[in-house]
Amino acid sequence: MKKKLSIGVDLGGTNLRAAIVTPEGTIEKKLKVPSVGDVLKTLSELIERLFTPDVVGIGLAVAGLVDVKNKKVLFSPNLRQIEGADIAIILQERFKVPVCLENDANLAALGESIAGAGRSYDSFVLFTLGTGIGGGIVRNRQLVSVSSEIGHMIVEASGRMCGCGRQGCLEAYASSSAIMSMVREGLNSGVDTLMKHHPPNLAITPAEVYLEYAQKGDALAIDILTKAGLYLGIGIANIINILSPDAVILTGGLIEAKTYYLQTAMQTAYTTAIKELFEQTTIITTHLSDDIGLIGSAHVAFQAAEGLLNYGK
Ligand SMILES: [Zn+2]
Repeated sequence: MKKKLSIGVDLGGTNLRAAIVTPEGTIEKKLKVPSVGDVLKTLSELIERLFTPDVVGIGLAVAGLVDVKNKKVLFSPNLRQIEGADIAIILQERFKVPVCLENDANLAALGESIAGAGRSYDSFVLFTLGTGIGGGIVRNRQLVSVSSEIGHMIVEASGRMCGCGRQGCLEAYASSSAIMSMVREGLNSGVDTLMKHHPPNLAITPAEVYLEYAQKGDALAIDILTKAGLYLGIGIANIINILSPDAVILTGGLIEAKTYYLQTAMQTAYTTAIKELFEQTTIITTHLSDDIGLIGSAHVAFQAAEGLLNYGK
């Protein structure tokens, strides 16, 4: 039988990464090049270096909003030049295999279900907790290809301004950028905090807030992390109430903020979600490897090649 392979690509603002992957999720070879110059040309050359006659499809992961059916990138803040471009169609014509576009957090969720902690669950929701908050939904071991803008669920009416231009989003409370805005606001208000004595030439990092200042008992750091955790807990409870997944998987740098942030989130999810649904859901933390998104991207291309998806043939 002919060997089947797929190419998964991550279109990052700094680097384009691509890998050749087996249906079982094993990476056979991967390459990385800087995302400079004509990105479509660079991407095409990168794929050319990996492409073999065994490749049945190509999956592209993009940070931002993607129109999956029409294969268009609607909004990609880190890679503006691919917005609106017929990137998938052009690659499809060149390589003569299905090419699909998907949001990178969705593909990380799919990769997680194949080669990560998500393997143990038929359905789960992935939360990526970093500078922003993203996510992806897997149901019956399939990616639910919807926008999954988990970070922009509203958790507070007329609440804090979000980077998306709306108010009260989860990301405006529970992301590391929100934590840092609240730190700046606290410092500007003149409240007594150890963070006032931070070396002025060195910006405070989120990790210093939760690993250093909160652990030293600084009230401002503890208050901010507790507030961020409270809203994360509300976000998790909303997801549990709506989707009743087998698991909620938390990833991203903030999963290291265990004491105040995660503990408060767990406690709040417990008290806020419908009890019976909460009890059926496991909440876990895991570190996503860099390869997970590539495995997810390659997998969605296998599905497209098999005609399982409406992802272009
Ligand atoms: Zn928002």
